[in-house]
Amino acid sequence: MIKSIIESFSNLFAKSETINYPYEQIAKFKNYRGLIEYSADECIFCYKCEKVCPPDAIVFKPTKEKNRLYEYNPNLCIYCGECVRNCPKEDLALWQSEKKPKII
Ligand code: SF4
Ligand code: SF4
Repeated sequence: MIKSIIESFSNLFAKSETINYPYEQIAKFKNYRGLIEYSADECIFCYKCEKVCPPDAIVFKPTKEKNRLYEYNPNLCIYCGECVRNCPKEDLALWQSEKKPKII
């Protein structure tokens, strides 16, 4: 009982573990790769990224035109990077936001 009272009292003066978001930014953890970025201008529509994505975060929706429409759901993405690694135009058509795309 006394131990819990002392602990509760000491927590009043301890440093907060939370941050004042959005006024303070969350520190990115080491090796954070970022969200998936896409360029339709560079894409060759091979759909490899869609096939290798484990949670189906990348989906190409059918359209009336020849090429399908790219859709990315960041809430499903697990940031594994498989889509980028399998893209024949890696870092041009598809890249992770913490890495800069190649300049050609
Ligand atoms: S990083 Fe992984 S989960 Fe996210 S879109 Fe690419 S393959 Fe899918
Ligand atoms: S793998 Fe690359 S080139 Fe192929 S559809 Fe996806 S973004 Fe386009």
